[in-house]
Amino acid sequence: MENLIETTKFLLKKYKLSANKNLGQNFLINENVVNSIVESSSISEEDVVIEIGPGLGNLTEELLKKAGKVIAIELDDRMTEILKDRFFMYKNFELINDDVLKVDLNSLIKEQKNNGLKRAKIVANLPYYITTPIIMKLLEEKLDIASITVMIQKEVADRLIAVPGSKLSGAITYCVSYYAESESVMIVENNSFIPEPSVDSEVIKLTIRNNPSVEVVDEQEFFKLIKVSFMQRRKTFLNSLVNGGIFKDKEEAKVMFDDLELDYNIRGEKLSIEDFARISNYLVSKKNK
Ligand code: SAM
Repeated sequence: MENLIETTKFLLKKYKLSANKNLGQNFLINENVVNSIVESSSISEEDVVIEIGPGLGNLTEELLKKAGKVIAIELDDRMTEILKDRFFMYKNFELINDDVLKVDLNSLIKEQKNNGLKRAKIVANLPYYITTPIIMKLLEEKLDIASITVMIQKEVADRLIAVPGSKLSGAITYCVSYYAESESVMIVENNSFIPEPSVDSEVIKLTIRNNPSVEVVDEQEFFKLIKVSFMQRRKTFLNSLVNGGIFKDKEEAKVMFDDLELDYNIRGEKLSIEDFARISNYLVSKKNK
């Protein structure tokens, strides 16, 4: 691999550019981190890799050497010009100049699978200002993907890969654990980027489950219940359900707590994903009666 510090400085100078902070541009210049991201994604020629935010292409280059195809989605026109020049010789490179949140990833993946590629994988050093919307899009659209390997802020990573029901967990923890198995790949030092970000970073890998981790009758109700119970973290689960409009008053809520043998004082963050599934399925069955 070429020296990424030199390549980055050279490209920025050649194209007379500087990083756009509003677009979350922190270019990866640490070869070991690039290698770890690529290795932990276990990419082969049977894979199509969708890279979100390729920037100057420092990660893209290594992905191109391993994958059957790399589709890079970049919002910044200044970057797409560089990427076209840098990778014109790679036949397996495709570039989409758009906001990833607006791209129809489902159709994109279907098309690649019809072309004979076996698995789709997401790999990215994500723009931190939209980490959560991107991860939620990737999970909620139920894309036909094998895994998501991404660099994100460490603080967000801690929450995403927390054990549901542990101190660090939040509504998004349950969502991730519903769709995927998660693991930390590595913590990344700030001096691995130009410019250095003001927050710590971590690479995580989400391996998409064949089936969700719990059986839920109505997914929309399940996620609404989780959201409501985390809206006011310092309140008990019972109070959150009443304040969130799931029950009209405490007395009505207590009937469910008694039926399901739940402690009136329990807090939402203490509930496991199985608890939420059980409660949500109970609520749906009562609604349908
Ligand atoms: N992959 C490069 C690297 O590791 O050096 C750059 C990563 S940088 C943290 C994030 C990249 O995402 C930037 O190139 C930025 O322009 C791009 N980006 C920001 N918002 C985007 C969006 N909504 N859709 C697609 N790309 C976006």
